[in-house]
Amino acid sequence: MTHATHPFDALMEITARPKTVFVKGEGAYLWDDTGKRYLDFIQGWAVNCLGHSPPAIAEAVAAQAKLLLTPSPAYHNAASLKLAQALVEASCFDQVFFANSGAEANEGAIKLARKFGSLHRGGAFEIITFEGGFHGRTLATMSASGKKAFEPLFEPKVPGFRKARLNDIGSVKQLISANTVAVMLEPIQGEAGVWPATDAFLRELRTLTREHGLLLIVDEIQTGMGRTGGKLFAHEHAGIAPDIMTLGKGIGGGAPLAALLATERASCFEHGDQGGTFNGNSLMCAVGLAVLDQVAQPAFLKAAADAGLHLESELQKLSARHGLGDVRGRGLLLALDLKLPIGPAIVAQAFEAGLLLNAPQPDALRFMPALNVTKQEIAEMIEGLDAILTRAGAARRVA
Ligand SMILES: *Cc1c(COP(=O)(O)O)cnc(C)c1O
Repeated sequence: MTHATHPFDALMEITARPKTVFVKGEGAYLWDDTGKRYLDFIQGWAVNCLGHSPPAIAEAVAAQAKLLLTPSPAYHNAASLKLAQALVEASCFDQVFFANSGAEANEGAIKLARKFGSLHRGGAFEIITFEGGFHGRTLATMSASGKKAFEPLFEPKVPGFRKARLNDIGSVKQLISANTVAVMLEPIQGEAGVWPATDAFLRELRTLTREHGLLLIVDEIQTGMGRTGGKLFAHEHAGIAPDIMTLGKGIGGGAPLAALLATERASCFEHGDQGGTFNGNSLMCAVGLAVLDQVAQPAFLKAAADAGLHLESELQKLSARHGLGDVRGRGLLLALDLKLPIGPAIVAQAFEAGLLLNAPQPDALRFMPALNVTKQEIAEMIEGLDAILTRAGAARRVA
């Protein structure tokens, strides 16, 4: 038997990653094993809403770990009851099922919609999703996604997903048939490069789905938990009440927690339909409570909205200085259009310079800092990016 010789070789190679090992995080910063510090505008992929290793989460984990990790999914535990109650009170939904990842929460949403179809709509099972949408990496959630690169993979896909175009209500209407049970979308398409559904489109979708008796499912795994500023959930900006919502990423503040929420009418699972060993375990629900306790505060949400507006205006100034494109998104989920496929090169140079940025598409940079990011941290990021863009501009003029 041969064994991996280099530590990196013992992990499956599932994506290109720098050969750097991170060992510590605090607030807006990460440190690698050589002691180099990085300013982090990725934050676990829009996950660490309170920054790296916030004391509130460290304390919640330590306290709950000493008390109870999990009594098994066959029994109730105090933390999951409290967190479910708090989420119901903070939203338009009536019931919660906890999951361990966003994809798993979305699998639950898809199953719930199919169950609803079998109970109330004569077996209708089709869900209308959107081109460019991203819902996860399980077979059903890859099938629901409208990501081009997923199309040839792992055939045959799970059937029952038809793709409409974002912000084009006609394209949705066209796909509705007797087989349709739901429409599912992200209020802002994150992985596609931060493409918002307009508030008007969300309202049109709500009206259309009501008219046809269809469920409206919002995937707020990236947009939820204050990410868009001012409101806890992005759909609230449009003033709509969906039937089903999924949460992930920010809900655990860096710990693996996700949730499926539904209104009383849509919440139709029966015994045996849904479950999971770690779902709703005390440890992660205690973390969720610590996160929600801070994020749901009106003052916190307002500060995140203000930080988002500040970041947006600083990015616009940067864009004007370098002749780049628009800034899009909302709150602290923003993208800068680079107009050229230079995103990966900028990300690589930023990494060298100790700045963590993400290019969801070759011609765009995405910014998803902690929701408590400071003006000073934003200034530091802009300064670093400014220097890289200046060098890139000079290189282009020479070439
Ligand atoms: C990240 C993400 C998912 C998948 O969540 P995982 O925790 O990676 O499974 C699903 N939908 C959206 C909108 C996401 O951003």
